[in-house]
Amino acid sequence: MSATVITGIGELVTNDPAREGLVGLVTDAAVVIEGSRVAWVGPAAEAPTADTHVDAGGRAVIPGFVDSHSHLVFAGDRAAEFAARMTGEPYTAGGIRTTVAATRAATDEQLTSHVARLVVEMRRQGTTTVEIKSGYGLSVVDEARSLAVARLFTDATTFLGAHVVPADTDPDAYVALVTGPMLDAAAPHARWIDVFCEEGAFSVDQARAVLAAGAAHGLRGRLHANQLTYGGGVLLAAELGLVAVDHCTFLSDADVEALSDSGTIATLLPGVEFSTRQPYPDARRLLDAGVRVALASDCNPGSCFTSSVPLCIALAVREMRMSPAEALHAATAVGAAALDRDDVGVLAPGKQADLVLLDAPSYLHLAYRPGVPLVTGVWQAGRPVL
Ligand SMILES: [Zn+2]
Repeated sequence: MSATVITGIGELVTNDPAREGLVGLVTDAAVVIEGSRVAWVGPAAEAPTADTHVDAGGRAVIPGFVDSHSHLVFAGDRAAEFAARMTGEPYTAGGIRTTVAATRAATDEQLTSHVARLVVEMRRQGTTTVEIKSGYGLSVVDEARSLAVARLFTDATTFLGAHVVPADTDPDAYVALVTGPMLDAAAPHARWIDVFCEEGAFSVDQARAVLAAGAAHGLRGRLHANQLTYGGGVLLAAELGLVAVDHCTFLSDADVEALSDSGTIATLLPGVEFSTRQPYPDARRLLDAGVRVALASDCNPGSCFTSSVPLCIALAVREMRMSPAEALHAATAVGAAALDRDDVGVLAPGKQADLVLLDAPSYLHLAYRPGVPLVTGVWQAGRPVL
């Protein structure tokens, strides 16, 4: 197995709990990659030799981002809806139906090439692990093929048939479809099941029924909850002990306490609030209560069409009072935990060699230099891909 040693790393973020501080910084560091794995991490002066040598030139290296929430399988765009929103129209869940019509009309090849383009776009910005949801098919055939397309790009696929009730459809009949034939067709391609639990989408009781049906098919649950209004979604996630509940913008004290007690990760998606001009979730309140917080892009054509985790980090630091270390940790190690993965998001021997080289001396520049494309090298499972 051929080995590569990267030396001259001015600042290495390991996220290794065995090292000091939240992000386990090592300065003047080196990393050895063997095959798809990290073989060695430590001071450059002690680095073993390897077949290939890369000099980072004093720049920073971080774990690849783990984007635990995205909706990449769709067709069309909603730029006009965005423009209307920016001139005063509110965001509602109903816009999803526009994308559903475009997605149903697209061929498998069109959907696949569109996802491929977005995955490359993400990689250029440092994302090496991505979760991808269905949710713009909303028919048995279109949900199953959306997940089959997603599965070409990631193991972390999520069935989101319960995204919104399609136009001219009875809600109860639709839940019966989602928990019946649609789930049967989707389950072979999915690892997770998700529900948009929100006014205008699905109620807590409907979400509970969908998650229970998914569990019976071996799919683990996650939820979109408390994005636009207060509601019972976060409490349901905590009660069911879900790994993660996403959005968490409108939280009562009871919601925060339940998250803290259950250990359910709150995945915050600040690109959505940025793009919909809504109030940001209170990350500080969650962190101070001991809740684990992840950051993800929620890349989708409606409420947030950014694929940039660095933008989310900058927003989390600037607008949500997370420290730069908390934000980076949330977008790597905690994102991995939100997908029930411990082999990514961390740079330590035995972990997957997903590394990002920044054109900056410190990871602090991710928030300090918002909007600047700092990612200058990416290794994915040990292979240089940028
Ligand atoms: Zn979402």
